[in-house]
Amino acid sequence: MQRIEEIAVLRDRLREARRQLLPVGVVPTMGALHEGHLSLLRRARADNGLVVMTLFVNPTQFNDPSDYDRYPRDLARDAQLAEGESVDLFFIPSKEEMYGEGFVTSVSVGGLSDRLEGASRPGHFVGVSTVVCKLLGITTPDRAYFGEKDWQQLQVVRRMVVDLNIPTEIVAMPTVREDDSLAMSSRNVRLSPEDRRASAILSKALNLVESHVNQGEEDSALLTALLRDTVLSEFRAVLDYAVVVDPETMLEVDTVASGGLAAVAATFGGVRLIDNRLLRRKCP
Ligand code: AMP
Repeated sequence: MQRIEEIAVLRDRLREARRQLLPVGVVPTMGALHEGHLSLLRRARADNGLVVMTLFVNPTQFNDPSDYDRYPRDLARDAQLAEGESVDLFFIPSKEEMYGEGFVTSVSVGGLSDRLEGASRPGHFVGVSTVVCKLLGITTPDRAYFGEKDWQQLQVVRRMVVDLNIPTEIVAMPTVREDDSLAMSSRNVRLSPEDRRASAILSKALNLVESHVNQGEEDSALLTALLRDTVLSEFRAVLDYAVVVDPETMLEVDTVASGGLAAVAATFGGVRLIDNRLLRRKCP
């Protein structure tokens, strides 16, 4: 594995790979790697001749500066884990390398970016779409890998790639969970033991909604109330949103008859967690 900090060096290495006709896969991350990230790396390794992992804690997608400051960082451990997954190029640019002097451009995926996570975290998705656009521009990969855990981010990236004619296939990977079903997240390490136990309510609430849908419930208002009330039954949870939406547009829907997404965000002891579940009715 080669560790690279400069865009020009990464480009040189990618040019070489292209000469050898190696398909290139990119996995963008902010580090503090867990099994969720590793599942993306494994899939990228299986699909491609050359795997690039990017590690950049992107300041422009943090609406809360203290969240950026407290974001977990462990470069030595991340490098070891990436090496263990046979990553070829480990790209860790500095802020200055990514946002050079005079940088003023941003990419904004209209509408989609203002809903749910975008409403709670103003500017978040402009930061995300701009940095992903840059990373795809730097690496011009055949494939890029994203987790369904950040469902809305995945939709933003998919929309951007279509709208800007970026010739990269976006590959989505299922959410990897802890034993109690909590979605793995780099932020989980910041939970106190009590909040860590309490946070399992998010996936429990989503399981309950899914089981009601599987039993034939289609009414979004009822499902939303079930989701919200279940999360609120845990007194440590400070609910941000609990909704049932269209899985592509993230707009609220009246019924899940033709599919829907249950999405939830809540804070536990100041640590903000998100989770979601695609709702499909079982065939009769
Ligand atoms: P992050 O480092 O949190 O920006 O995440 C980097 C990538 O890993 C994103 O595409 C995330 O959606 C994905 N990811 C994060 N957590 C998980 C998880 N629990 N399961 C699968 N993918 C994940």
